[in-house]
Amino acid sequence: MSQVPNVYDAEPIPDAALVTVRQLLQSGDLFRYTSDNSPVALLEAEFARALGAKYALAVSSCSAALFLSLKALGLPRDAKVVIPAFTFGAVPSSVVHADCVPVLCECGENYRIDLEDFAAKLPEADAVIISHMRGHTSDMDAIMALCDAADIPVIEDAAHSLGTTWGGRNIGTIGKIGCFSFQSYKLLNAGEGGIMITDDADLIARAVIMSGAYEHNWKKHPVLQAAFAKWQNKLPLYNQRLNVLSAAVIRPQLEELPRRVSQGRRNHDHVAAQLNQSRWLHVPAKLPPEERAPDSIQFNLVDMSAEETESFVAAAKSAGVSVQVFGQSADNARAFWNWQFLSDLPELPKTRAMLMRACDVRLPARLTLPECDVIAGIILDAVEKVMGAHQAPEAATVRSA
Ligand SMILES: *Cc1c(COP(=O)(O)O)cnc(C)c1O
Repeated sequence: MSQVPNVYDAEPIPDAALVTVRQLLQSGDLFRYTSDNSPVALLEAEFARALGAKYALAVSSCSAALFLSLKALGLPRDAKVVIPAFTFGAVPSSVVHADCVPVLCECGENYRIDLEDFAAKLPEADAVIISHMRGHTSDMDAIMALCDAADIPVIEDAAHSLGTTWGGRNIGTIGKIGCFSFQSYKLLNAGEGGIMITDDADLIARAVIMSGAYEHNWKKHPVLQAAFAKWQNKLPLYNQRLNVLSAAVIRPQLEELPRRVSQGRRNHDHVAAQLNQSRWLHVPAKLPPEERAPDSIQFNLVDMSAEETESFVAAAKSAGVSVQVFGQSADNARAFWNWQFLSDLPELPKTRAMLMRACDVRLPARLTLPECDVIAGIILDAVEKVMGAHQAPEAATVRSA
């Protein structure tokens, strides 16, 4: 049998990073505001240019970027922030951290925001965070139309969506603010780190100061100086700056981005086509304006009981592929019922039903197509092993009725 590919290892960091890191270690100059042209400032300029945004601020994580976004919007204590119920636990946490209250919105079986529930919850909202969860883009045309009409600011949590486009526009540039992650499991890997982008000078000025540009360090940011001057000494300093070494590790990866995006999409679509051949598996289609940048694949189990689901996961695991059903483990940080730090945890039946049968498999961009075939084959064999006996013609007739 072919060897099962390792889906956990990261891609090596380009050698160019090593040259800069060595220089930085020699000089000991690791703080972003020591020099005028630190790798952090260069990263901000390059990232903003690559995405087509006016301003960027690099920070210690995407969670910090979300937190600073909410703070920079000037939301009062207990402001309501609508977030999708299918997201990573760091998202409701950033809302709580910003002294706001998350309002969870249902997500459908295609992992995207349920627009009916979204429209119903919007009237009570002061702001909205759209998580493009695992890169799945919700209908941004409909969301922006609703939010613009109600004058509610939209923050895009594009932590895991870098490289995705919607109607030809880069994800993260559609709402008022876009936030991205450089944590190791995302498309650009610095271990930890994040960045926020916006076209709003006043908003980025506030975020820059609150991220820890104390005294006159904000002068090292190329934003209209007038936007900064009026906030001098008026805002708290949360100190969520990015380390210079992290920026040095990320910058040479920017060139790798187009390749990672196209290979990730190729791998995803290749495996999706195979999984969709099984009557027990369904990979939801993307929305038409979306071009994805996946590094994993999600699919739903169709007509499988809880026991069959468990047997399927066990069969895939024993063949070497780890399939995670979001709702089936007691500690999954993407299952909303595990966010017990929220004081008022609602029930969301649609999202729960999706999470109980939605599977998650890593599919890094560096895999070759034959390696993807091994993974798809193991998943298909596992489902056949568990469900094969059901596949009598009568069963198929009943289902299509
Ligand atoms: C990873 C992730 C985050 C958090 O990013 P950090 O940089 O680790 O704080 C937030 N939202 C989504 C959708 C993510 O995938």
